[in-house]
Amino acid sequence: IKNVVTILLTFTICRIIVSEGLTVDQTLTEILHIGLEGEVSTEAAKLEAASLDFGRLSSKGETIAVVRPASANDVARVVKAAYKWQQYFAVSARGHGHSINGQADTRMKGVVIEMGKGGVGIKGPLVWEKEMYVDVWGGELWIHVLKATLEYGLAPMSWTDYLYLSVGGTLSNGGISGQTFNHGPQISNVFELDVVTGKGEVLTCSEDRNSDLFHSVLGGLGQFGIITRARIALQPAPQRVRWIRALYSNFSTFCKDQEFLISLHGKPASQRFDYVEGFVIVDEGLINNWRSSFFSPSNPVKISSLNADGGVLYCLEVTKNYHQGNADSVDEEIQALLKKLDFIDTSVFTTDVPYVDFLDRVHKAELKLRSKGLWDVPHPWLNLFVPKSRIEDFDKGVFKGILGNKTSGPILIYPMNKNKWDHRSSAVTPDEEVFYLVAFLRSALDAETLEHLTNQNRQILGFCHDSKIGVKQYLPHYTTMQEWMDHFGDKWTQFNAMKMQFDPQRILATGQRIFHFEV
Ligand code: FAD
Repeated sequence: IKNVVTILLTFTICRIIVSEGLTVDQTLTEILHIGLEGEVSTEAAKLEAASLDFGRLSSKGETIAVVRPASANDVARVVKAAYKWQQYFAVSARGHGHSINGQADTRMKGVVIEMGKGGVGIKGPLVWEKEMYVDVWGGELWIHVLKATLEYGLAPMSWTDYLYLSVGGTLSNGGISGQTFNHGPQISNVFELDVVTGKGEVLTCSEDRNSDLFHSVLGGLGQFGIITRARIALQPAPQRVRWIRALYSNFSTFCKDQEFLISLHGKPASQRFDYVEGFVIVDEGLINNWRSSFFSPSNPVKISSLNADGGVLYCLEVTKNYHQGNADSVDEEIQALLKKLDFIDTSVFTTDVPYVDFLDRVHKAELKLRSKGLWDVPHPWLNLFVPKSRIEDFDKGVFKGILGNKTSGPILIYPMNKNKWDHRSSAVTPDEEVFYLVAFLRSALDAETLEHLTNQNRQILGFCHDSKIGVKQYLPHYTTMQEWMDHFGDKWTQFNAMKMQFDPQRILATGQRIFHFEV
């Protein structure tokens, strides 16, 4: 009854306002003001901020209002207004705006819902200790999820490298890090969601309930609904982390060892590492880079002294979680695993940190970069999933070819197991059992570098296309419908059908440019 009254009121009010000669934009924001418990703003500074993301590569600036919701009902009211409104306007959820290419913007006339800035009515994470899960608001940052669950000695199992990302934002993509080989991406660790669909309905979904919506939304790039609540699996949290890095000069050996380590998924914790990542070093500058403060300044690593293969080094990064009580056995377990690997003998670097410090490691680097004015700069990032069978070709063509010896940021590389990804989700991965994430995380401090790196990204994609490497973009960005269809491959028909079912007016997440590729 409340909903019917709200809709009737909305239409009555909108007719009155239109008849008084206001513009459509004014009418719309008036309606949003009247109907919501949260805040609506049309302040120019807020509109501009809502269009700007971490990538700083594009800002379309067509947003006409920013909403800070006080509840899931607020989100539903905005979407319903858009669904029913005579003139088209788009609605995009914005988590923490850490996209690269304007994905959280509307890119056309529309409203941005600031999920990451939930208003007074939004509650913090609710931990269900016995059931081992936590219910969180869709705009909650992962750092807050971690801190809330640790109070119960619990924590989620699958992470991203950086925790100042929203739950709804990473679940719309995948959410990957060094734990993915063992626990799957974050989208494989969700029990239930509340979602506001493109029709403005609030639906609870899970494996057993509205399962089409559940699977579509996970990795669904915001196309089917706005996640207002997620129920995330928990496990007992460790206290400390042994954090180990070791260098390789030979790419095949590096890959063989990484692949061996991820093949240990599902083994008892004592027989595997908890986290497996790695990175590529093509210039010595990287040793002093934001992710590499790990190497001791008093013991600098010289690539030249390590006989690097084609001038490129590869660094394995692994961790082992433990409790204070079993610190001794952890050393033995680590030694047993390291013995099976083939890194450069003298190149093992170990440190030991509290669990929170390890998970929150990139934030420390962020603070350093911010203090030097190096954080809020353009980031022409490129993230690719590369099938295992072609990773050596990728190494030759890209790391030892296209890149040259200046990368302008870290390049991550680590493999994961496809069987840890639910094939029913919308996320897209290569068609092989093992595939690698290769992430070019670059910063451009001036226009020339930005152009250079953007061209290089194009060259890398061109090389993969011409060599038929079969890569899939992670956090994908395309500008034509054909590219999106190629990206989704077999999943496109289902993706399209679910769009018609859950967002038939194509209102949601237009910044992804999937169904509005021309904008
Ligand atoms: P936004 O950029 O705000 O939104 C992204 C998309 O999700 C948009 O289309 C938006 O409309 C949609 N969306 C947002 N909230 C919701 C919601 N509640 N419901 C439905 N749709 C929604 N990713 C990894 O997987 N692993 C990493 O280790 C990792 N590290 C990163 C480190 C940094 C420094 C940065 C900047 C990004 C990193 N990412 C990583 C990428 C990150 O996961 C994505 O950019 C993610 O989208 C960011 O979350 P956000 O909350 O900022 O989302």
